[in-house]
Amino acid sequence: MERRVFLGGAFAAAGIDRSKAAMGPTGLQDFDAPLAPVKVATEREIASRVGFRPFRAEGFVVRSEALGHKLLVHNYGHGGAGVTLSWGSARLALSAAGSKNFDSAAVIGAGIIGLTTAISLARAGVAVTIYAEASSPETTSDVAAALWQPSTIFRTESMGAAAMEQFRFAARVSHDAFRDEAGRPGRGVRWIRMFDLSETPFGSERPEGADLYPGSRPSPGAARRFGVAHAECYYALVIDMSVYLPALIAEFARLGGRLIARRFDSPAELGRLDDAVVFNCTGMGSRTLFADRLLTPVRGQITWLKGQPEVDYGYVFDGPQGLLYMFPRENSIALGGSMGWGETSPTIDENDKRRMIEGHARISARLSRQL
Ligand SMILES: Cc1cc2nc3c(=O)[nH]c(=O)nc-3n(C[C@H](O)[C@H](O)[C@H](O)COP(=O)(O)OP(=O)(O)OC[C@H]3O[C@@H](n4cnc5c(N)ncnc54)[C@H](O)[C@@H]3O)c2cc1C
Repeated sequence: MERRVFLGGAFAAAGIDRSKAAMGPTGLQDFDAPLAPVKVATEREIASRVGFRPFRAEGFVVRSEALGHKLLVHNYGHGGAGVTLSWGSARLALSAAGSKNFDSAAVIGAGIIGLTTAISLARAGVAVTIYAEASSPETTSDVAAALWQPSTIFRTESMGAAAMEQFRFAARVSHDAFRDEAGRPGRGVRWIRMFDLSETPFGSERPEGADLYPGSRPSPGAARRFGVAHAECYYALVIDMSVYLPALIAEFARLGGRLIARRFDSPAELGRLDDAVVFNCTGMGSRTLFADRLLTPVRGQITWLKGQPEVDYGYVFDGPQGLLYMFPRENSIALGGSMGWGETSPTIDENDKRRMIEGHARISARLSRQL
């Protein structure tokens, strides 16, 4: 089947309105309007945390298999984009459960993937119990920055066509969902002005669709203000996980869902649950629980500074001293940029923290000079 036709069919089935995809925010400042510098200083730090992106070079896993008399549906391995792909991946997981008629299900995991899967099931009238060793604020999902952007998910050369199709579908369904939530009270989802910064020219690859980056254009003006060789600007969605995850947990409870603290050490233990259908949303946990050795942790570290309401933009700078990114939350500013491939240390790396603080302070100083 021709690829383009298949995509069109999939979007129609998903109820995605293509005309909406390019719609951006209203009421946001133009890219050339002033940018308030972030006050980067160690004494403004609220907290620093480490998390492990569940990266899989071949792409995230959504598929079903038999578990004794039960149906087991996997939904894990979303790397640095679990938030970005969440609602779309949940929709794929529900369709992977297929035509099996079930009125109750167990979801293992209470991160963003478990919660969106559980809510999607509950909205469809299924009675859902979430079992999870940890829940918010103790999951990887709580550490996410979180920008809507598919990054650190797979290696393009390791991806088959079906996995790429699955990725595009999940990205677009999720973008649709978050766009509809932007600005809704109590959800923590909003549009911001985004700037991609680099000392080398950008590649043009956006396999999920360039229309998901409204307003996207090269910006020599932003390059001058940030003091870098190249800049691109666009409007982006950011999700404040300190607001969004509690909102999802409250919504799940309102829908009648139950959340039970429990760890599983083997698939056989899952087989002893009452529900006929079990959704595995354990993120990095699938490396041990299901022996998926293709899952690789990509360690990340974020430092949150005190909030600055006047900071209504974010940036990602791929610079000579490594990656740096900044996104505003409702009550804080997230500073990030660490990527530890295969690293497993849960403690704060003070050297990397210093690199990030100094790097962000340099960017902020350049912006101050351009005001
Ligand atoms: C520093 C950093 C920045 C990031 N920034 C972004 C971003 O800007 N945008 C974005 O989209 N994504 C971002 N991510 C990626 C995102 O955080 C992950 O993709 C996402 O959190 C994965 O969600 P999850 O629900 O699969 O896993 P988790 O949040 O880890 O949840 C897994 C759940 O399964 C449970 N579990 C695991 N094993 C077991 C077991 N054996 N028994 C019972 N329960 C179990 C856990 O307790 C937990 O409840 C970032 C990640 C990091 C670390």
